[in-house]
Amino acid sequence: MADAEAPRDILFDRARARIAGLNRHFIAGHWQAQQGGAPIPVLNPADERQIGEIAAGTAHEVDAAVSAARAAFDHPGWRAMPAARREQLLLHLADLIERQADEIAAMETLDNGMPFAHARGAVAGAVSAIRYNAGWVRRLGGETVPVSVPGDWHGYTTRDPLGVAALIVPWNAPFAITCSKVSAALAAGCTVVLKPAELAPMTGLRLAELVAEAGFPDGSVNVVTGLGSVAGAALVAHPDVDKISFTGSTATGQGILRASIADLRRVSLELGGKSAVLVMEDADLRKAVPGVAMGIFGNSGQVCAAGSRLFVADAIYEPFMTALLDFARGLRVGPGIAEGVVMGPLISAQQRDRVLGYIEAGKREGATLALGGDCPDGPGYFVNPTIFVDARPEMSIVREEIFGPVLSVMRFGDADLDALARAANDSVYGLSAYVWTRDLAAAHGLAKRLRAGSVKVNGAGMEFALPFGGFRQSGLGRENGRYGVEAFTETKAVMIAY
Ligand code: NAD
Repeated sequence: MADAEAPRDILFDRARARIAGLNRHFIAGHWQAQQGGAPIPVLNPADERQIGEIAAGTAHEVDAAVSAARAAFDHPGWRAMPAARREQLLLHLADLIERQADEIAAMETLDNGMPFAHARGAVAGAVSAIRYNAGWVRRLGGETVPVSVPGDWHGYTTRDPLGVAALIVPWNAPFAITCSKVSAALAAGCTVVLKPAELAPMTGLRLAELVAEAGFPDGSVNVVTGLGSVAGAALVAHPDVDKISFTGSTATGQGILRASIADLRRVSLELGGKSAVLVMEDADLRKAVPGVAMGIFGNSGQVCAAGSRLFVADAIYEPFMTALLDFARGLRVGPGIAEGVVMGPLISAQQRDRVLGYIEAGKREGATLALGGDCPDGPGYFVNPTIFVDARPEMSIVREEIFGPVLSVMRFGDADLDALARAANDSVYGLSAYVWTRDLAAAHGLAKRLRAGSVKVNGAGMEFALPFGGFRQSGLGRENGRYGVEAFTETKAVMIAY
């Protein structure tokens, strides 16, 4: 029976049972139990109850996983595997995930807290990303280059896989980010050690089961669970890791970069953001209002590319804000398992308290709280949709990444594109920027001036064929698109005299 036909309670029961069984590392094609020490409990952020536990990996398991990935990388079964076969394995993996899509989405809802409908979309996106990356396996070539030195030469380039890739992922979109990284690394011909986030590790472990079922060779994908400060740090420090692809906070990313200096390890970093949203006076409000609201309240604001700094044109400020507040008031906050919920909890008590701390700072610094700022009654780490107006550029709620459902609103009178872009660019981050306008010249003019890795006009959402990454402290390198696969390769130049 296809997942979609399973009634919701049966589906969630199945997801719970699956989660309960995923408490080991996956190394060299085998499931390995915790060696000493206490396991790490995993909670459902919507009710604070334990749903499972994971093994607390140490340098010992990390070393075993890296060795397994190295052995798999050097094995002819992987190195000499025809590209078409590798593509086929990835496509098969995508099919297996698609068949299990609703159960995986239910696991994600229990583990991360996101609404079930959102989780289903994320799993569909993950399937699409894997298929997209599979398409590069047979297309990732080099080029023939005219050679000018004397003699008869044939000069060309190749894209060689970097080797063992360490993939470290966060908790906010675990399955989608994991699938995107794993499939890009495998498409490039690397082997993988994955370290899921300890706060939402379950679908990463489920992926390992499906990787094995798809027929990938033992050791090509390994998963070590555990704390970032222990398992993550050991992985980053391991001398036999060739590439680190990290998504998470800027502070952790900076530490990873420092740790990679000694042996010049290749590093890609997808970090934080404080993305600007510009609503011009000619914007189509029917689209801009839900677009802006879901751009910050979707996934409870726990999105690196969340549009958290809003600039609204004076001429439409009143009607736009009235409609935005109405829309935000109507958002149903609750457990992601419940029908019709659009905003789930934050991931942890610590994250909720951090967000509430920013809300207090916003009030203290003189912004006007127009909506929310509080938590609903009952268990779970919920924070209601929160909107501050009269925000100013120097306020912490405008400068710092909150990673929660908090929108800071400013207004502008002069639509001079240079001035507007200067205000939007006034951030140490530069991940995404959003523009709502019907004016083609403003759209192109702002796209050119905004210093962000992605600029989206009249919409949002992730397109896996386009590169994703940040300017400035939002990161280093790009994921997705051709760039995302090439990030797991090294370019080699070959010259042959004939
Ligand atoms: P985090 O940096 O604390 O953790 C991310 C991952 O790194 C987790 O798996 C964690 O276990 C691991 N980790 C922690 N310390 C480590 C260390 N010393 N060495 C190695 N690994 C370590 O981030 P988080 O709180 O889980 O995620 C939220 C952050 O991620 C936000 O700042 C958000 O903006 C960012 N994020 C960015 C993107 C992007 O694509 N740019 C996407 C999602 C999230």
